[in-house]
Amino acid sequence: MNGKVFIVGSGPGSEGMLTQRAREVIDAAEVVLYDQLPGEEILSSLPEDAELIDCGKYGGNHTLEQDEIEALIVDRARVGKQVVRLKGGDPFMFGRGGEELETIRQAGIEAELVPGITSAIAVPASVGIPLTHRRFASQVTIMTGHEDPTKPESALDWSLLARSRGTIVILMGVKNLSKITGLLVKNGRSGTTPVAIIERGFRADQRVTVGTLEDIGEKAVVAGVKPPAVIVIGDVVTLYDPAYPPLIPF
Ligand code: SAH
Repeated sequence: MNGKVFIVGSGPGSEGMLTQRAREVIDAAEVVLYDQLPGEEILSSLPEDAELIDCGKYGGNHTLEQDEIEALIVDRARVGKQVVRLKGGDPFMFGRGGEELETIRQAGIEAELVPGITSAIAVPASVGIPLTHRRFASQVTIMTGHEDPTKPESALDWSLLARSRGTIVILMGVKNLSKITGLLVKNGRSGTTPVAIIERGFRADQRVTVGTLEDIGEKAVVAGVKPPAVIVIGDVVTLYDPAYPPLIPF
């Protein structure tokens, strides 16, 4: 008999942000496939008697390709195991969870989804930046910064993004930050639009760097900004006030 696969979001990084359902299914798992995004606090609480597969370091130091991860999930479920596929944030927000669900369904295996709190919303919130606010923004766009924004077949509509008056949130955007801010300005967004970068949200060493579309690229280089980080663009960023302590406990 086939086992079951749980596609689980771990939330933005601290154990307190795991849902009760996530905790339950993780504790009962026979196999857990994970990467590093959930963070040390959650990864150190995985069940010791389960088979723990680090998708970034399988069999020595090999980073598993997406199809290899999916093959392992199906393989373990086919021998009757309860399998948890653990992902940072919400599994369907840029986590390739949607692709994994397709494969699991094609294999005829039962699946359950455990949503997680996405970093896109929770990380800015944790430093006092609400993505919407009656005075500043009535819409939000969440985009990946991972695709090379200068490639001709970009799936992103830069002209629309530049013209939209709401908040833009970028995940996986550190590497391409200057290209992205440059394209937004080139397409008409004001260079003085405020930008915040929040690195390592929900970790004790989280850090916030603020600037504008014009200068944030340079500021990020000077500060040595590194992933994982959430980038927020828009007037809501003016609500960030470093004089206040973080809104979450460490
Ligand atoms: N599914 C995840 C996102 C996966 S993409 C979610 O819903 O949060 C990975 C990106 O998420 C990172 O490059 C970074 O942009 C963001 N991210 C996830 N956790 C983060 C954290 N604790 N602090 C800052 N950024 C984070």
